[in-house]
Parts: sequence; C-alpha cells; structure tokens
Amino acid sequence: MAETIETGPKIPFPRKRVTKAIAREELAILEAAYPDAVTELVYDSPFTLLIAVVLSAQCTDARVNLTTPHLFAKYPKPAALGSAAQEDVEAIVKSCGFFRTKAKNIIAAAAAIASQHGGEVPRDRDALEALPGVGRKTASVVMSVVFGDAAFAVDTHVFRVSKRLGLTLGTTPLSVERDVVALVPEEKLRHAHHWLILHGRAICKAQTPQCLRCPVATICPSAAIVARVATAKRHAKGRAGVKTLVKGTYVGISRGR
Ligand code: SF4
Repeated sequence: MAETIETGPKIPFPRKRVTKAIAREELAILEAAYPDAVTELVYDSPFTLLIAVVLSAQCTDARVNLTTPHLFAKYPKPAALGSAAQEDVEAIVKSCGFFRTKAKNIIAAAAAIASQHGGEVPRDRDALEALPGVGRKTASVVMSVVFGDAAFAVDTHVFRVSKRLGLTLGTTPLSVERDVVALVPEEKLRHAHHWLILHGRAICKAQTPQCLRCPVATICPSAAIVARVATAKRHAKGRAGVKTLVKGTYVGISRGR
C-alpha cells in the first residue's frame, strides 16, 4: 500500500514560512513539551518495528499494538511470517484496515528479509525501501527508532503540524522533510519526528486544533487562521439557524391557511 498524506482539514495553511529564528523557537518549545517522546508502537526488534509501522498506515498505534502480539506469537521470525498463508495473516491483521494489502506486503517483506538479508532488517535506506510495503516514511522510522540514525519521517501529523507552524510551504512529504531537516540539528532529528507527531495527536489536531492550550500559540502563524475559521463557522451556523427559523415560520403560515 502506498504511503499517503491526508491534508483533510479545511483550515488553510499559512502562505509564508516563519523566520528561521521563530522556527527554531517553535521547535524548542515542542522539544520542551515532549522531552521523552518515543514511538507508541510496541516492538522488541527491528523486524517487529518494521512490521508494526507497515500495519500502522491509516490505523492507530493502539490498534496495531493490540494486533502484533498475536501476529508475532504465531510468526516470531521473518522466515516464519514470510512463508505464512495469506488468509491466516489477513485474519490476524483484519482490524488494522487495508488488511489484504497489508497482509500481502508484510508476508513479502518478511520473505525478502529472510531470503535476501539473512533474516536481519537492513539498515540501509535503499535496501529498506526495496522491501514490499516499505516507503520512505517507514524506512525513516525504522532507521531513526531502532538504528538511531539521523532520519526524519513525515507522516500525516508531521506534515500538518510542520505546515501550520510555518516551518515549510512544502506540498509533498519529501519537500516538508527537506525543509524541517534544514532547521533541526542532526543529533535531534530522530526526536523531532516524535515532537511533531505527539503535538499533532494531542493538541494540533486536524479538524479541531486546540490553540488555546497550545504552548506555541503566541508565535504560531496558524493560531490567527484557526481563530478566523472558527469565527466564520460560528457565523455560518448563525445564518443557517436564521434561515431554518424563517423557513419554519413560512411553512407554518402556509399550513395554517
Ligand atoms: S497554535 Fe494552534 S495551529 Fe498552531 S501549533 Fe498550536 S494548535 Fe496548532
């Protein structure tokens, strides 16, 4: 399954990037807010993390964490999962969504790890991205989380929050990655992904960003945009209410004749 980014919410992104000084201040605030940020996926090896990340596409980490214990109890090693029957794996990963594609990809990725890499997840980006179902984001998560490499994964939360903060005007995960990477010291890069993800999940939500309790609000260029959109929505609701009232009155008069 291709890795996708949903841009969904009807809250426009800022049209200008913030200055480097502001960008670094925003990131420093997030670093202080999420000092112990780590992945919420449960794993105990590069292999189990890789499979968990593939399963987490369009699915919550909590759901994946409920699924992987059953999967790895039955197929603990790449060779076992790589030779599993598709329907058996589908039955286990069904609740993660896109289960047919995910089952097919994790079986094929496990088989490739077993046959081409001696049962060990490769550390090299090109080799990782050559595995079925593994795109740049998944490779970056594995490289940064289990190998400690300076990689920065852009998922839907990182994409949205980076743009709201004015760190980038990028329209693709790769362009967002390049802009943010240029702002973060290399040794902090693998943590920056988690600052932005946790902030996106907890506060800077797609549809309902919680600017009033956001530690970055005083310097975030989207705070004013979010406030404007909220005001416009309230006015639209008010107008809709008046229209309904007028329509109801008219219908009532008609019926009364
Ligand atoms: S101020 Fe609002 S838009 Fe900006 S990062 Fe915080 S929650 Fe997101």
